[in-house]
Amino acid sequence: MPRPLSAPLDVGFDYTRSTGPTLGRFLSDLRRRKVTGIRGADGRVHVPPLEYDPVTAQRLTEFVDVASTGVVRGWSWIPEPLEGQPLDRPFAWALIQLDGADTSLLHAVDAGSPDRISTGARVRVRWRGDRVGAITDIECFELSDGPGDEPVEADDVTMVTTPVHLHYTHTASPTEDPFLRGLMEGRLLAQRCPACEKVYFPPRPACPTDGVPTTDAVELSDRGTITTFCVVNVPFLGQRIPPPYVSAYVLLDGADIPFLHLLLGVAPEDVRMGMRVEAVWKPREEWGPTMQNIDHFKPSGEPDAPFDSYSQHL
Ligand SMILES: [Zn+2]
Repeated sequence: MPRPLSAPLDVGFDYTRSTGPTLGRFLSDLRRRKVTGIRGADGRVHVPPLEYDPVTAQRLTEFVDVASTGVVRGWSWIPEPLEGQPLDRPFAWALIQLDGADTSLLHAVDAGSPDRISTGARVRVRWRGDRVGAITDIECFELSDGPGDEPVEADDVTMVTTPVHLHYTHTASPTEDPFLRGLMEGRLLAQRCPACEKVYFPPRPACPTDGVPTTDAVELSDRGTITTFCVVNVPFLGQRIPPPYVSAYVLLDGADIPFLHLLLGVAPEDVRMGMRVEAVWKPREEWGPTMQNIDHFKPSGEPDAPFDSYSQHL
């Protein structure tokens, strides 16, 4: 048996959000080389500032400047830093109580070796040169009895963009592998449940109704029926086609569940349930182990399918 297909995958998006009055103040001040906390109902100063009091749940508004120096309240040594961590050499994650704060902030301490850091050690912020209004404007803390740096002028921060990324290697399952290899040859391979005889496309390793492994491979044609659809009017990051366009659930002939794909070649207002469609494949030299080999579906010109033929497959 050949080795199962395997490929690196990278999923991600840029998460953009407005900061609001509390987080916005904190991030704006970090850009100015200042650390700001907020006073709670019981008088304690929370750093980073909280939007709502942890005891009374009331909205908090009394900002308090705290120092960029403080004391280590607890720590853990990281001998082999991971990608994306604040430092690329061994460091300590530490809970740091800044002078003037009553709570501790989690950040990295560039201590060099674990025998140089201890609970109670004095630290100060090492500011990043190019500050954008993020917690990473604090590059790390360093062991020091000295004073913090003077604040500087900087514009307010009202929006932040946080890239969220996940890299991993996906190895195809025994069901998925022949499905993906079939796609590379332009074949659409489904799996049938031996108990209820439902045909799943994309294939599933087990029938969700009967709980038994699907055992029979079934090759389907690239024609089908639209069961339901939506007109996409909202632009979003990475969109391939300017809206409006139609995403439709296509029930391939012989399948029992529909799958979502792009529908082109028809005005959105003319799309309807029961419309017969056919796949438009990309040029063969562009095919890979992916459903993207089908560029989109288009109306086939056949008469609409009667509702009863797909009413149990919505
Ligand atoms: Zn079944």
